Amino acid sequence: SFWGKWYQNDILVSLTFHLFNLHGLIEHFHLDTMKLRRFLVMVQEDYHSQNPYHNAVHAADVTQAMHCYLKEPKLSKSLTPWDVLLSLIAAATHDLDHPGVNQPFLIKTNHYLATLYKNISVLENHHWRSAVGLLRESGLFAHMSSENRQLMESQIGALILATDISRQNEYLALFRTHLDRGDLCLEEAGHRHFILQMALKCADICNPCRTWELSKQWSEKVTEEFFHQGDVEKRYQLGVSPLCDRQSETIANIQIGFMTYLVEPLFAEWARFSNTRLSQTMLGHLGLNKASWKGLQRESSSGDDTDPAFEEMDSDVLPQETLLS
Ligand SMILES: [Zn+2]
Repeated sequence: SFWGKWYQNDILVSLTFHLFNLHGLIEHFHLDTMKLRRFLVMVQEDYHSQNPYHNAVHAADVTQAMHCYLKEPKLSKSLTPWDVLLSLIAAATHDLDHPGVNQPFLIKTNHYLATLYKNISVLENHHWRSAVGLLRESGLFAHMSSENRQLMESQIGALILATDISRQNEYLALFRTHLDRGDLCLEEAGHRHFILQMALKCADICNPCRTWELSKQWSEKVTEEFFHQGDVEKRYQLGVSPLCDRQSETIANIQIGFMTYLVEPLFAEWARFSNTRLSQTMLGHLGLNKASWKGLQRESSSGDDTDPAFEEMDSDVLPQETLLS
């Protein structure tokens, strides 16, 4: 419908503006609401609406999830307005100008971004630099000191770079070590920023923690984007990337691998950090959704339990029992 379309097209602007207002950021940082709206419109327009998954709706979804994590008691009582500001901007911009293909694709096609960022966190660096470009262009923080603006840019960078899924093990190992030692001190800015990195990582891959109906739709969209890349790779004989071959992959196999090797280990640690009803609900949905995909996998009798592509990414997997205890 017209209204449905209109609402969806405007979702990132309206949600983020609403959250800025809700968290008192407009007042606290003396933001010009016209500039804020213009900044958010530019952000929204720099997402590619033709991407099935990496578009402004995904960015809005991640921003909404981030807001929920910021409100968790353990975080909310120690966060400063500055932390909230950076978290919401990083969430809204974390996939800015995403081309709808992954880093290996950019590297093998000699894309200028791969060259520019020397094949390291190519997409995440691009999302961050694009966000910085729009922040400067909008003049939203022109009234702040240049030291603060520089600090903001680098801290937003640290948050966005943490969403590089191929580096999840590093972040997770550090998170686990802190939780084992019980030495996280949220009065320290450095520790708070580490937790915000973990929160943004959770927000970015929380699709399987939503209800089945929502989760299933996200899964279909991300698979559509993967398979489209695989089609292009086949057409130009570039070698099909893992998870991108519609002939040999299924949504169920991809999702079960994704949940087992990436989502479950991350959310198990998050629930240790913030053991709340929200965390338990997310782990509950995760377990149910995985069971649903396993049911569908059995129905289609497509074979393998998990996708080997994920095993290369994450070797230490928590046993399933610890997740729901
Ligand atoms: Zn994302």
